[in-house]
Amino acid sequence: MFLECAELQPIGTNAYFVANEDLKQAFVVDAPLGAFAWAKSLSDSLGCNLNALLLTHGHWDHILDAHHFAEAGVKVMGHEADKLLFENPEVMASFSIPGIEFKGFVIDQWLEENQHLDIAGIEMKVLEVPGHCPGSLLFYLKKESLAFVGDAIFNRGIGRCDLPGGNFEILKNSILKKIYSLPNSTTLYSGHGPKTSVLAEKQENPFVRL
Ligand SMILES: [Zn+2]
Ligand SMILES: [Zn+2]
Repeated sequence: MFLECAELQPIGTNAYFVANEDLKQAFVVDAPLGAFAWAKSLSDSLGCNLNALLLTHGHWDHILDAHHFAEAGVKVMGHEADKLLFENPEVMASFSIPGIEFKGFVIDQWLEENQHLDIAGIEMKVLEVPGHCPGSLLFYLKKESLAFVGDAIFNRGIGRCDLPGGNFEILKNSILKKIYSLPNSTTLYSGHGPKTSVLAEKQENPFVRL
């Protein structure tokens, strides 16, 4: 499995590119500004087809480029609780930065708790981790021992809970019940900042510790 991260504009949001080099297929997790061109050049250089865009949640900084993926025929997936944010991202304009252009898009496949996906020949399980955003999702790749966690948890941090639909108690519950129940060695790839692990956060997260 080929995995690459890019921290993209305009506020340093991570996009992840995952490719199965044997099957020549790839998918992307989250779409900040510039994610499409970045993913396209990676998939072209690897000779891979871009199969899917997985969205960890509907916040504006994670979906700015999603319409490019949709227009290119890439299957876009997310949670229905964030439907409004995907289709009308301008509703979050007052929480963004000036001069941003928002373009809505349609989700091709809604995802839900405990759903099993096989994308680009890579198996993963979908977990709902609300609290930062109502439609927050986690993608757990058991074989690869890693998870894409969006803004639910960061390296020594957690997602903010003061945005519409945010709730600290719900987020805390998501982290304790879902994230901290993954194997300790699981690498966590967040929506912002460097990667971490389940064990490191259990021991050192200043907000939610076991
Ligand atoms: Zn967010
Ligand atoms: Zn974010």
